[in-house]
Amino acid sequence: MSIPAKIRVRRDELVSAIEDARDLYYQKDNPTISDIEYDTLFKELQGIEADYPELVTADSPTQSVGGEVAENFSEFTHPSRMWSLDNVFDFDELDTWFARVGNHNFLCELKIDGLAINAVYRNGQLETVATRGSGSVGENVMSNVEYMTCIPQKLKAPKGTKMPELLEVRGEVYFSLAEFDQINLEVTATGRTAFANPRNAAAGTLRQRIDKRIEAAAEAKSETSRTKATEELERAKSAMSRLGLIVHGIGVHDGLEITAQSHAYELLKAWGLPTSERVKVVKSAQEVKDYIDYFGEHRSDIEHDIDGVVIKVDSLGEQRELGFTARAPRWAIAYKYPPTVVRTRLIDIGVQVGRTGRVTPRAQVEPVLVAGSTVSFATLHNGFEVARKGVLLGDMIFLRKAGDVIPEILGPVVELRDGSERPFVMPTKCPECGSTLAPEKEDDKDVRCPNTRSCPAQLRGRLEHLGSRAVLDIEGLGEKAARALLEDNVIEDEGDLFSLTAQDLRTSDFFVIKGEERKIAKNAELLLEQLQLAKSKPLWRIISALSIRHIGPPTAQAIARALPDMTSLRNSSADELAQIEGIGQTIGNSVAEWFGEKWHSDIVDKWASAGVRMHDDVVESGPQILAGLTVVVTGTLEGFSREGAAEAITSRGGKSASSVSKNTDFVVVGPGAGSKAAKAEELGRPILDEAGFVVLINDGPEAARQYLG
Ligand SMILES: [Zn+2]
Repeated sequence: MSIPAKIRVRRDELVSAIEDARDLYYQKDNPTISDIEYDTLFKELQGIEADYPELVTADSPTQSVGGEVAENFSEFTHPSRMWSLDNVFDFDELDTWFARVGNHNFLCELKIDGLAINAVYRNGQLETVATRGSGSVGENVMSNVEYMTCIPQKLKAPKGTKMPELLEVRGEVYFSLAEFDQINLEVTATGRTAFANPRNAAAGTLRQRIDKRIEAAAEAKSETSRTKATEELERAKSAMSRLGLIVHGIGVHDGLEITAQSHAYELLKAWGLPTSERVKVVKSAQEVKDYIDYFGEHRSDIEHDIDGVVIKVDSLGEQRELGFTARAPRWAIAYKYPPTVVRTRLIDIGVQVGRTGRVTPRAQVEPVLVAGSTVSFATLHNGFEVARKGVLLGDMIFLRKAGDVIPEILGPVVELRDGSERPFVMPTKCPECGSTLAPEKEDDKDVRCPNTRSCPAQLRGRLEHLGSRAVLDIEGLGEKAARALLEDNVIEDEGDLFSLTAQDLRTSDFFVIKGEERKIAKNAELLLEQLQLAKSKPLWRIISALSIRHIGPPTAQAIARALPDMTSLRNSSADELAQIEGIGQTIGNSVAEWFGEKWHSDIVDKWASAGVRMHDDVVESGPQILAGLTVVVTGTLEGFSREGAAEAITSRGGKSASSVSKNTDFVVVGPGAGSKAAKAEELGRPILDEAGFVVLINDGPEAARQYLG
């Protein structure tokens, strides 16, 4: 069969694109395409080679793992080869692997987004540290080792045992996500391309020769070049000391009997090497999948980035029977999660004005699929952040989306600029009301729109906040309704809200049925009904609804407990307020300043005359039977919403916390509870079901303990 010319051409294109990408990735530690783009190219090439096996050459990228030795370091031939792993991308592919290997105990561990290294110890003393390189030959980075605080120089055999004479330890050096973000800011601040992932940052950090930098600093001819060289040296040393290490394998181990992968990990730990707490040996394919699902969901809770899960047949005897292919062991597989970093184009940066007037830039990007959803916008905290990230409008950028958080820009791909990119200029006027923007205090990074009373964006934000679940929970008062009320001049500001009538709503198209005689629609009825209900909600919700700076629901609760009356609150000085438990001077000042503004106290007056609750009856807050106790509620409860459960705790003087610690007094667990329940068990904290929770809030902690038996 002859091969179509266009297939040959495409094959050559793919080979050169992959080789370029590998060169940038492995030699320069600075890729300009994302992992997902690389995987796509690689898969396409594999597909062509599968269809036309005659196109497979010995030097095809599919036949090697990449990562030849850089010239900077001397070569090091690993005593035993470091394999790379085959990847699977879904459970179907994983099932094919399970079918091939059969039933075993499987060891599951997280695949850290880091750089693989081999540490060679002789009689427990560190002799060489090398990168994996091609797998057979890596780079000897031993000259950096004194700056790598993560690698122990000496191992200690527990009593009665002996260190192997020659021992190879395999592991991953990595940056935590917090360190990665910090390193990237240091990089983009100097106008360079951001690291696309923690692995490249780790590789770029480890593969610089500190000894050469020390020489450069010593031999510098001028004061300026000495300063510069010294700065670079210090930066390199500092970054190197921030690398972490987790070990996950043993190569040569002279004179030592090891029965299983998990046995090897026990030994590594006993010798003083950093192993992962998250390694787990399971007995079935289903349990492997559960492990994969669990960490897929909790990926963003882990302090370092992971790109998948590694599954190994645990028994070393069974590993030997399964053996190796030319590229990888048959007894292990890497399950890859969808990448969280993609490359896309920064189209524009707009600004948004929040309810407190804070102006935040928001990046609009070419829509791109990342971790299962399409992203069109990314966050940038303030104007300085845009400069710190070094991005220009029109740049290709790396963008990361982790978990449910808003995607963030890592930095630009500087190499791909064509000169048409323009810098972002923070506007000086509010885009919604035209007021001149300014920082509130001289050293504030944020700029604000000072027109708090009538800036449409701020008003809209305040109405939405007031209607939100955590505040007055007014169904029917969302973004669209807020916009309609203001744009159609139904209300001037939030002061008019609670005296709204059907007559008022009839003036806005949003609240009437189309085509009829301006009959009010369902949404208007709902809004009026909900406003009526909201009037009698507890005082702390009313206080939260005022949008006083620094007063979220928990603070409002503390205020309402100490001062259950709006008039007393209004007449208190900043210093008096600062005395309340849980309230400091900042909040005291903020409340007093707020009431000092006439249009603010007008709002409160209007609400009072519309019948909004202005004081709590002390009886209602009940006896403080949970005073001093911390309670965590997790999972869903039938009789309580999340806020309702929290309120039941705080109104009785207890603290409703979101995470379990050894100081937690009770953990209430409903269906669907996740890691918090496990944590409670691990820490031995008392666990109540919903019925037990009812006992706790009605009869107190003693009764709850008796309920537990
Ligand atoms: Zn404005």
